[in-house]
Amino acid sequence: MTVCSVCNENEAKIHMTIEDDTQISMCETCHNLEMSLKLGRTFDKEIEAFTLPDAAGKYRHFYIEQLVLPIGVRLEAIESKGEGYRVAVGDELDTDLPSLYQKLVKKTKQTLSKQFLEKKTFPNGQSYVRIKDSELVAQIQSSGNSHGPLLVIDGKPFTWEEEGKMISSFEGFEIEMKMKESTDDEF
Ligand SMILES: [Zn+2]
Repeated sequence: MTVCSVCNENEAKIHMTIEDDTQISMCETCHNLEMSLKLGRTFDKEIEAFTLPDAAGKYRHFYIEQLVLPIGVRLEAIESKGEGYRVAVGDELDTDLPSLYQKLVKKTKQTLSKQFLEKKTFPNGQSYVRIKDSELVAQIQSSGNSHGPLLVIDGKPFTWEEEGKMISSFEGFEIEMKMKESTDDEF
C-alpha cells in the first residue's frame, strides 16, 4: 500500500504529478480537504457506509469513497467484502452533494435488483451457473495477478475462463460488447 504523503497514515488513492514532475500521493481525506480549501466550499461526506439487500435477499454492505477531482465529484459505493459490487456516480464540482449521495443509493438499489446469473443443477447433482436471460452486465476489476482482469457479475468475481464456460451454451449466437464508464447514468 502507498501511504498518503500528507498525513503519512492512510492509504493513498489519488496520485498526481505536479510541476517539475514530482509525484504526490494522497488519501481521500487529505485530498478532499485540499480541494475544499482550493474551491472555497466544503465537501463533507454525507454517508460513510450503507447496507442494502440484493435480489436474493442477501444483505450487502458498502462503504463510500468520495473523490473531489478538478473535473468533478465522484462517489463510489464499494462492497466491503472485496471483489464485489462497485457502483459509481459523478457530477460537476458545483453539484448538490446530498442529492448526489441519494443518487448513489438509488443506483445501488437498482443495480442490486437485477440478477443476471442463476445456479442450476445437472441431473447428476453437479451444480453450474448459467446466464438467466441471455443478457449480462459485468464490471471489469483487477484480479491483482497476471491472469487478466476479473468480471464481477451479480457481485461475484469470475475469471474469463469461467465466463467462457458460461457462454458456451450460446454457441451460434452473437455477442455484443459495450464498454461504458461506471458513472454513466444509463443503468
Ligand atoms: Zn492523508
